[in-house]
Amino acid sequence: MIQAICTNSVFDLACASAVLQRMLLMNTLRYYPLALLLLGVFWFWKRDSFQARRIQPAFPKSRRLYYEFGWSFSTLLVFVLVGMLSMYLYTLGYSGLYFQIDAYGWWYLPVSFVLLVIWHETWFYWMHRIVHHPRLFKWVHLTHHKSVNPSPLAAYSFHPLEAVLEAAYLLLFVIFVPVHPLVVLLQTLYAMILNIWAHTGYEFFPAGWTSGRFTKWLNTATHHNMHHSHVNCNYGLYFNFWDRVMGTNHSRYTEYFEMIVGRGQTTRTDAAKVKGTRKTEALVGP
Ligand SMILES: [Zn+2]
Ligand SMILES: [Zn+2]
Repeated sequence: MIQAICTNSVFDLACASAVLQRMLLMNTLRYYPLALLLLGVFWFWKRDSFQARRIQPAFPKSRRLYYEFGWSFSTLLVFVLVGMLSMYLYTLGYSGLYFQIDAYGWWYLPVSFVLLVIWHETWFYWMHRIVHHPRLFKWVHLTHHKSVNPSPLAAYSFHPLEAVLEAAYLLLFVIFVPVHPLVVLLQTLYAMILNIWAHTGYEFFPAGWTSGRFTKWLNTATHHNMHHSHVNCNYGLYFNFWDRVMGTNHSRYTEYFEMIVGRGQTTRTDAAKVKGTRKTEALVGP
């Protein structure tokens, strides 16, 4: 990126400003459209159609959405500043970033992607538990937890101190591990999409997911939603690994998940029954 934007790979003020503008534009253009699209479809346009799948049936007041929108923007700004710091470190030679795929081979791209995901999960879980410490919670993490019933815009609704911690996993990885920018781009996109989805407030996974031999290791939207409503439980991100190992899943996680999924199924059965009755009525006719 530096070579593409800055001449002679020098990280001067003009170069820093150009990198900042481009990164902010890219981050903003991939976050808000997706979050607002999900908000528009699920919270407004098709609200009644998906009500049975809603994890917390109620909706928060609209002022909460403005709150989440605003803090998300400050987070995007922090993410860009951390990204710029990693670029600066690259120019100083403190970086594992490489730009020629042949340097490590094509096979290394998926491997580094998986490594980055595992590292992100581990960083997130433990950082998340630390910011739940009573001495830190109010100063660092409370902003995110103001959203008890989160919207897609809560995905990046963090205090700037937390935003730094949220982005630090990537900075550390990029410094110590060889990684191609394409992998960074894809992993951050993947994390962002999952994060936005986890805050949308709907559960679409099938019954039995949280107890299935393999599926139980993958987190659900219900899992993170319960973190917002119950606070001291369910700290994980993509996987239900650390929460299982450390015994921090909510004791009624599976029960609550099945209740929500069952609610959706009951409504579908009822709708089918009503449809069937109407058909029968139409066949019998007056
Ligand atoms: Zn939390
Ligand atoms: Zn959250």
